[in-house]
Amino acid sequence: MDDLEVTQALLDFIQGCPSMFHTVSSLRERLDREDFTYLPEGARWQVEPGGSYYTTRNGSSLVAFKVGQQLDHYHFQLAAAHTDSPTFKVKDVSELEGPGSYLRLNVEGYGGMLDSTWFDRPLSVAGRVLVSEDGRVSSRLLDVQKPVLLIPSLAIHFNRQANSGFAYNHQVDLCPLFSAGTLQKGDFDRMLADELGVDADQILGKDLYLVNRQAPAIWGWSDEFMSTPKLDDLQCVFAATEAFLAADNPHDVSVLACFDNEEVGSGTKQGADSTLMPDVLSRLNQALGKDPEDLRCAVAKSFMVSCDNAHAQHPNHPEKTDQENLAHLNGGIVIKETASQRYTTDAFSRATFRALCQEEGVPCQSFANRSDERGGSTLGNILNAQVSLHGVDVGLPQLAMHSAYETGGTHDTALGIRALRRFYQTDVLVDEADSVSFE
Ligand code: ZN
Repeated sequence: MDDLEVTQALLDFIQGCPSMFHTVSSLRERLDREDFTYLPEGARWQVEPGGSYYTTRNGSSLVAFKVGQQLDHYHFQLAAAHTDSPTFKVKDVSELEGPGSYLRLNVEGYGGMLDSTWFDRPLSVAGRVLVSEDGRVSSRLLDVQKPVLLIPSLAIHFNRQANSGFAYNHQVDLCPLFSAGTLQKGDFDRMLADELGVDADQILGKDLYLVNRQAPAIWGWSDEFMSTPKLDDLQCVFAATEAFLAADNPHDVSVLACFDNEEVGSGTKQGADSTLMPDVLSRLNQALGKDPEDLRCAVAKSFMVSCDNAHAQHPNHPEKTDQENLAHLNGGIVIKETASQRYTTDAFSRATFRALCQEEGVPCQSFANRSDERGGSTLGNILNAQVSLHGVDVGLPQLAMHSAYETGGTHDTALGIRALRRFYQTDVLVDEADSVSFE
């Protein structure tokens, strides 16, 4: 596949992932097609050398692993990314009646979205709905594949400050319009019920999120750009998954981890700050007939690549990025580092990953925040509090992070896949923090 075909495959993947639940469902379908065995968390695990497995938690986080046939260098090589993106979550009592004959949705922010980007776009909802049927309550995926909502801007004539800095109030300014009079209170749940083929009174709970229904696009006179909802972090989920599936390493355990709730701090039962990763590693260790001491030795020799998108320099605000440690669109994978250690990168992990990129011939860029900017944080450090291992924070360069429609370059996904495939493919043999060798 050429870079544009890879980009199109990424955009198709993102279209199929309107919520974190759909992302995990899409990944499961892919892994099932590749003959991975599903290991439910609530059953005893049987794991064999040469086997491929995955487990999920809450239907919104997933960890997959491939156990080497020989396993003579027992350690873990792990790439992690996140399944969620900033959006708005629908409240349980979902409708706001009025003013007049209007019917609006009652939503609250999920993560740190750019408010202004959610106005005047065709929107819908997706997520999971808990339905009472046949004497039990079961979870159903829902994706309303039609624009049914929109958050209208207030006309400039009513808000002369709109272009000179305006603070949006989520309870006032960002309520999506559902009807101007043809629908009545209760019709939102009836719409959901129709979509699911059940009665509205069977719906007992819902985790539903606003979805931007504007289609992804490849654009530019020379096709150098792409724009889509949820580029952060589904671009990394996609690249890590493709690399994980394409690589083969008979000596180690390759792990792919996709966590929910990164955008709200990771502190949930299925987030990076939960027991999910230590649970998976200790259970597969035990299922392989190894003891806790074996696990500690393996973890000490392991390496993690924490993948979350990076900021490219902004064309209108070049002053916002460090003058030298900055990333460009279509410039390749970005290594992120900060002295505050809110990224896991240090000289050892940077050198390890950079050496792999050099071997693969993939360009690698260095990102550091301006020294007077705090910058963001991501999965790596949080995961390190649960399972501590050498790790590097990387991402693919993008513009407009946390916009409802984010922009990246059409060459970076393919470069990211190549770098991560090389990582999975290579036996990365860590000797404390003294040296690392590649086989
Ligand atoms: Zn992210």
